[in-house]
Amino acid sequence: MSQYWSKLVHTLTPYVPGEQPKINNLIKLNTNENPYGPSPKVIAALQKEAADSLRLYPDPNSDALKQAIAEYHGLNANQVFVGNGSDEVLAHVFNALLKHDKPILFPDITYSFYPVYCGLYEIDFETIPLSEAFEINVDDYLKANGGIIFPNPNAPTGRLLKLSEIERLLKHNTDSVVVIDEAYVDFGGESAVGLVSRYPQLLVTHTFSKARSLAGLRVGYAVGHPDLIDALHRVKDSFNSYPLDRFAQAGAIAAMNDTAYFEETRQRVIKTRESVVDALEAMGFEVLPSGANFIFARHPKYEAEALATSLREQKVIIRHFKKPARIDQFLRITIGTDVECKALVQALKKTLKM
Ligand SMILES: *Cc1c(COP(=O)(O)O)cnc(C)c1O
Repeated sequence: MSQYWSKLVHTLTPYVPGEQPKINNLIKLNTNENPYGPSPKVIAALQKEAADSLRLYPDPNSDALKQAIAEYHGLNANQVFVGNGSDEVLAHVFNALLKHDKPILFPDITYSFYPVYCGLYEIDFETIPLSEAFEINVDDYLKANGGIIFPNPNAPTGRLLKLSEIERLLKHNTDSVVVIDEAYVDFGGESAVGLVSRYPQLLVTHTFSKARSLAGLRVGYAVGHPDLIDALHRVKDSFNSYPLDRFAQAGAIAAMNDTAYFEETRQRVIKTRESVVDALEAMGFEVLPSGANFIFARHPKYEAEALATSLREQKVIIRHFKKPARIDQFLRITIGTDVECKALVQALKKTLKM
């Protein structure tokens, strides 16, 4: 605390990301990174970018990247916004599109960055409880609001909401923006991107950090009606003209264009997820249905905190959220390679003395 801080800074409770351990020999299943490296074409594009041209500023508008994203989704480039990770895109979304008189709505159990942005931009919010089975019920959102946001699949539950339910929400909710955060959609969900041309209040965000194996490059994007995209540009250009450097633009273009590599690695993660679910269920875990590259599981007989500690002693790190109370007995486990997941299952067997 300091007398030099602004009033706002005194009120902030910043987001705490999962640990990036400084030791190497851990099996890292705690932050939903992809276990497979980026496409070799991405590496080649980055190497090519390490050149004399680094003395020049990058394209402030990332036009070539927007074009690649637009082509992939069958949209126009004016329906695409890009940023330094989808976290930055989301920050601009809160500031540009979700700050109104009425409170915005999001689930009580969801991505814990949302309330942090509300604090930063002084936005009122109301949390809507997930059902007993940790599902989003669209009927609970059919009321006056300043905007609606949730991930699909949701995090950290991994549960999917059907596209028909999202469309039902859009049909009812026409006076405020609906943001669907599709950070994990490529691991088994139905994307709402196909709806953006029909619903001008819909904005869908994606990231290169998960299914495209580029968490270290920091690239994310939003797609929606050109008027929504325009609002995001107005905020971005009042904040940082160059959020994506030359490496980020070149690497993301190469990743977007290598659909074969993307398909192969995401299918591998999905396949491994199914075998991890089977192994955990055989050990007595209750595992929520997952459409993501992680699972959310609890054991009726063992404390989550004790399980997390025991795994760590065996060099496997996973994520345990202590709050809210409804999820304090769950572990969120990222899907790694088959070898990493075998090590996880072995470590759990040892802990459970099986
Ligand atoms: C990982 C994640 C993001 C952020 O991704 P970045 O592009 O790495 O900033 C956004 N939303 C959810 C729900 C996530 O899990």
